Amino acid sequence: YDDEVLHVNTFTETRQLSEAFNKMLGRLKQLDETREEFVSNVSHELKTPLTSMKVLADSLLSQENVPIELYQEFMGDIAEEIDRENHIITDLLTLVKMDKTAQDMNIKSVNINELLEQILKRLKPIAETKNVELVLESFRPVTADIDEVKLTLAFSNLVENAIKYNYDDGWVHVSLNADHKYFYVKVADSGIGIPESDQAHVFERFYRVDKSHSREIGGTGLGLAIARNAVLMHRGSIKVYSIEGEGTTFTVRIPLIHVV
Ligand code: ADP
Repeated sequence: YDDEVLHVNTFTETRQLSEAFNKMLGRLKQLDETREEFVSNVSHELKTPLTSMKVLADSLLSQENVPIELYQEFMGDIAEEIDRENHIITDLLTLVKMDKTAQDMNIKSVNINELLEQILKRLKPIAETKNVELVLESFRPVTADIDEVKLTLAFSNLVENAIKYNYDDGWVHVSLNADHKYFYVKVADSGIGIPESDQAHVFERFYRVDKSHSREIGGTGLGLAIARNAVLMHRGSIKVYSIEGEGTTFTVRIPLIHVV
């Protein structure tokens, strides 16, 4: 009788084990696929500027007596592609570094009003090139336990986008508020907006709305992925509301006290 019980137990345990094993295998496979997709996306993004540079260089090399104007024009284009490549690599390194340091957050008590003021001050010159009005509205003084570097990056990316995807003479309104548990940062703009079908995807790595138009504006498609990562590391949330042609609002909610 004892033998039989043992047998039944062993059987159930084996089945449970095998189920758990299969589940783990499934998750590992999924992780592997995500990683593969990421590597393939990265390779593609890094190759695009290289392909352009190769075409430009080859076309100069294949001609004899290239007029200096043409030479200068093509070299200017090549320099632009190098800038682009550099930008992608910098953003990628930021993203990878962030993933790695997810565990070691550098949490300090930070004055959020000042943090936002600093960000806006730094971005003011960029806004001025398009005559975009940049306004900060602080509803109350806020101090919170945060990783200053990570959240500065997140809010800078949001405000930079609000300027970048705006019309000339538009506006960007940043507001700060808080209750007893969270602080809230809202970045609203009067810009080109994001079509509804794209809104769910803008936080994905390398996702850009309307490739041709975005390419004109310039970017890597990594800014919002970085922002979202930083916010999630603080156990916060980030949401987007937008109407095409009218404007976009990103809202961020972060706990005032950091809980590990
Ligand atoms: P990028 O480097 O292309 O700006 P992001 O990850 O920061 O990458 O943004 C992803 C895409 O989301 C952008 O390419 C753009 O199409 C869209 N987007 C982001 N912010 C805004 C905004 N404030 N207004 C309109 N579109 C935006």
